[in-house]
Amino acid sequence: MLVRMFYTSCRNMTRAKNFALLVLCLLIAGILIFNTSSASSDDTNKEYSMVAENDSMVVCFENFDDTRKLIFDAGYNDVDQDASSDTVIYFVTPTYPRREQAAEITRLGQTLMHVPNLHWIVADDTESCNPFLNQLLKKFGIPYTHIASPMPVFYRTRKLVPRGVANRRAALSWIRNNNKKTGVLYFGDDDNTFDLKLFSEIRTTKKVSMFPVGLIGDYAVSTPIVSNGKVQGFFDSWPAKRKWPVDMAGFAVNLEYMALSSNVTMPYKAGYEEDEFLKSIGLKMQDIEPKANNCTEILVWHTQTKNNKPPKIRISSGALQNDKVNLGTLLRQLESMGVSHISQSEGTAAQITKDGKSKSLLSWFS
Ligand code: UDP
Ligand code: MN
Repeated sequence: MLVRMFYTSCRNMTRAKNFALLVLCLLIAGILIFNTSSASSDDTNKEYSMVAENDSMVVCFENFDDTRKLIFDAGYNDVDQDASSDTVIYFVTPTYPRREQAAEITRLGQTLMHVPNLHWIVADDTESCNPFLNQLLKKFGIPYTHIASPMPVFYRTRKLVPRGVANRRAALSWIRNNNKKTGVLYFGDDDNTFDLKLFSEIRTTKKVSMFPVGLIGDYAVSTPIVSNGKVQGFFDSWPAKRKWPVDMAGFAVNLEYMALSSNVTMPYKAGYEEDEFLKSIGLKMQDIEPKANNCTEILVWHTQTKNNKPPKIRISSGALQNDKVNLGTLLRQLESMGVSHISQSEGTAAQITKDGKSKSLLSWFS
């Protein structure tokens, strides 16, 4: 910018035929260009320390270039090279009502907003359709199917609860009933973390693809062992005599291939869901395609969200119904999401703070 300003003013001076000044201008411009170019080659990947008051900190990397691609920009194919292919990814997400649900679905939905040709099957472990969840799903603009598929009560009382199984079974039924025989199936839990590159990788699955999942068990990773481009075994800290000791997020299945098996199922067998499912599709070792650069990259993380009890907030009904102030609307909304509860007689008293002083709602509103 500075360089351009100089260039313009120098050009005006040539018109004025002020030769000496022009030479000076060129000299200064030269110095400016030299400085900016050496600065820009220097400002990448340079760690530096800062001292802010008594704290010390290190700035590890800075990049001031905005090179983002818009979601629907054609150049987006850089991330998902196969976006132009017609292959649809059926992304199956089991979910269940608890206070973190809306937060998890928001994060996952905003990841999936970047993925073309995707159909999101969200199966909620609940008796009836949750309109709030559906409102949330609609907002993303992603093609989706919202299912309510409660776990049979019988399994809830078991020592090891088969989490998310009823939901995945419901999604498998939906795929079967809708005669979906092309595309790729992937099981992505609502609390996991997905690298966008995962989608371009699994989209080309011919039979079954596999890849590492970060943060699993005592090895902190579950991955196939690959040599010569072939899967030779598995590295998973909980073998449990499983033929396929992999995580639910560690594989994708081509639907054409899956349709060749007639007994595809995921039994209610906690800990053995992946193994039994992969057995039911008749998987053979030689069918497995290693992805993520021969299983050397982590493109999915089995993150888990800490589950805390919803707190109870004591607030008078007057304050709660007062629509001149935002608080009532906000707290009522959080109550309907199951994030927190409101009570008139119990819980932490609602107070408003200003200038470091906290006041009861009553005195605030009066
Ligand atoms: N899930 C469910 N019903 C439950 C518990 C869990 O549908 O009662 C879902 C949950 O939303 C997640 C998946 O099943 O998508 C796996 O559950 P969770 O994340 O609790 O288990 P993890 O494997 O991480 O221990
Ligand atoms: Mn989980």
